[in-house]
Amino acid sequence: MRFSRVFCSGILLVAFVGCGVTAPAPVGESVRVTFLDVGQGDAVLIRAPEGQAALVDAGWGSPVSSLRALDVDELDLLVATHPHADHIGGMADVINSIPVRFYMDNSQTHTTATYQGLASTLQQRTDITYLIAEPRSISLGSVEIEVLPLLPIASTDFNNRSIGLVVRYGEFVAFLGGDSEVEELSFWTQQDVVPDVTVLKASHHGSYNGFTSEFLEDAEPEIVAISVGTNTYGHPHAEALEAYTSAAETVLRTDLDGQITIVGYKDGRYEVVLDQEVIAMGQGSSLGSEAKGLCLVQIQAVAGFVLRNKKTRPNPAKSPPRCAV
Ligand SMILES: [Zn+2]
Repeated sequence: MRFSRVFCSGILLVAFVGCGVTAPAPVGESVRVTFLDVGQGDAVLIRAPEGQAALVDAGWGSPVSSLRALDVDELDLLVATHPHADHIGGMADVINSIPVRFYMDNSQTHTTATYQGLASTLQQRTDITYLIAEPRSISLGSVEIEVLPLLPIASTDFNNRSIGLVVRYGEFVAFLGGDSEVEELSFWTQQDVVPDVTVLKASHHGSYNGFTSEFLEDAEPEIVAISVGTNTYGHPHAEALEAYTSAAETVLRTDLDGQITIVGYKDGRYEVVLDQEVIAMGQGSSLGSEAKGLCLVQIQAVAGFVLRNKKTRPNPAKSPPRCAV
């Protein structure tokens, strides 16, 4: 992902965005990966260039208002990475509020009321097609979502059976691994399924056990996004922040930066869109001062681009995800 590093560095970036030397790519030529600001939990929206949408986890509470603000009126794919409440708490409300075509989980049940409520909601919805998480490739428009292998169900705990997803749009790659910890991350590196990525969702909300040096060497992320809120666990832990800052150009966190959107292009370039209020206040980023200043220019320009997209976005014909066995 060397091209991305060039794109997001130094004078080139300022010239590209601030002076309008090169216009942003036309509508329909980018994938958008949005880390919703759901407090302590995960909810990640993937929008294909053609308009299809996938939601990976749904936070503690309902992310429906955030999804509606992003003009999501249908979810082609809904994924529960694992049955902990900070990932599935808002899922029943999503299912009851927005049409869902495919639902995927790791087939693991839980005894909590949150899980039981979700299971009962799903049982009543025969219109939703269930997919079990197993190694397969799912087409979301022109975006490919690769489902990684899981450890055996009886061999480990909930976090270490989080569904792992590799999202590919040309050279742009995002990695979403739920709350995977050292055991599962090591399994994936041993299986050689961790690619060089553009964007990495920090596993387990930036916990000390949500990364390994081998995993980060394989992933070599440009951007690390930490989905985290007020919590009693100490997330994100200092050692994780240090590792991510060493591994990536940019480290962002929803508790400081708000909603984070990465706009990815087929050639591997990317743009970062953060919450406008946070930018205007000059608050909350773990970026270094140089990178922060540069990305402020980038973000302001890209935010205008997003608004223009909303007005001109066509209503694409949707096709079902292709599930290769
Ligand atoms: Zn979690």
